[in-house]
Amino acid sequence: MASQTVGRVAWDDVRRQATDFLSRYIQIDTSNPPGNEAAAARMISETLAAEGIASELYTPAPGRPNLVARLRAPDPFARPLLLLHHMDVVPASPGAWRVPPFDGEVREGYVWGRGAIDDKGLGAIHLIAFLLLARSGVTLGRDVILMAVADEEEGGGLGAGWMVNNHWDDIECEYVWDEGGAGSHGIIGDNPVFSVSVWEKRSMVLRLTARGQGGHGAMAVGAPIDRLVSALHALQGYRADARFNEVTREFFRRVAATRPFPVSWLMRNAGHFAVRPLLSARINKIPVVNAMVRDTVVTTILDAGGKPNVSPETAMATTNARLLPDTDPEAFLQNIRNVVGESIDVEVEALTEASPPSPVASELFEAIEKAAVAEVPGAVVTPIQTPVITDSRFFRLKGAKAYGLIPAILTTDDLNTIHGVDERISIDNLVRGIKITLDAITRLCARDGASASDQRR
Ligand SMILES: [Zn+2]
Repeated sequence: MASQTVGRVAWDDVRRQATDFLSRYIQIDTSNPPGNEAAAARMISETLAAEGIASELYTPAPGRPNLVARLRAPDPFARPLLLLHHMDVVPASPGAWRVPPFDGEVREGYVWGRGAIDDKGLGAIHLIAFLLLARSGVTLGRDVILMAVADEEEGGGLGAGWMVNNHWDDIECEYVWDEGGAGSHGIIGDNPVFSVSVWEKRSMVLRLTARGQGGHGAMAVGAPIDRLVSALHALQGYRADARFNEVTREFFRRVAATRPFPVSWLMRNAGHFAVRPLLSARINKIPVVNAMVRDTVVTTILDAGGKPNVSPETAMATTNARLLPDTDPEAFLQNIRNVVGESIDVEVEALTEASPPSPVASELFEAIEKAAVAEVPGAVVTPIQTPVITDSRFFRLKGAKAYGLIPAILTTDDLNTIHGVDERISIDNLVRGIKITLDAITRLCARDGASASDQRR
């Protein structure tokens, strides 16, 4: 049973509006760097204004605005819910795509283009649900804030981080709905699973440098470039121990319900030392689950040499490590130094903030759970510790409870397009996402949320 608010909507119209909005949103190229989110913010602001909703821009640097709009509760009983998405996207190399990445093409039941899922798709879902909530005329018991930020893909220093550090007085939300998790089917468990991010890993960027004598391409031996290659090879073989915490144990416990014995039993006892070796082969096969329980390290940039007949004096690589929230960065670094050996310099280029987890027992998590199951019967809703870095950390550090979920049912193929080629979202998923979002925010924010939610569609 979804809320009354969901039952009253003309969903065919919403389908058209959401498709059109997302297609146009993708056509505004906000590749970051440089970002250039101004036109995107203007489009959102105009869409809101057309329905009589004001929005405000907060601009830390030229062309890099952050947008905030608010539906007010006349006599609030609680602090706001904030719907958060980022307007910037990672760059796309058109050559590899089946469609031009910034055309916003609509075909085969999908909206195509960079940002279709991450994060303009979530933005479209939030925006339309926000408009539908406003149109419904329900009396709110807490404010609902729509926030579209710049700069997430480059760390959020001009976006969410800047907003939280400079304009917290205008936000002061209790809850945040952000990216970081998604619904999926057939990846983990046999049922549809909505993975809601409640905590995240930390990103550590390392620069590995080998220095020494290069020489002529005809005879150099043991040159820096060779030592770097050996070090990276050793790093590929590095596998940190699997470690479980309150979030990952709860994840396995919930997903266990969808699996037959004995896997279900193993999952329920995931934290137990005797079970770990038995479960570990299965965990290793699913990259997203593997990344949830281990520190990982991936080489992302190589930089050495320039002439075919010269062995260079320096060879460099950049690796991206993702640390479990309770990993000691110094101890991790020492492990990496041991793996690559003394002849390689290892420097930390960047490390994201450590942030606390958000509780699984909360009104927003519960509202999401009810709304998701109402829309997708048989679905399991579980907390996860996301391996990706999100803006949620800024809010968690301020004491807000933040949850990451694209409320759609994505396939492995869909998920692989995020930051990859042919990014796309099905129109069915857009509509599903809007229904779940509208239902959940009505449950959480309407003054009579509980009773409105118990009405049949
Ligand atoms: Zn994103």
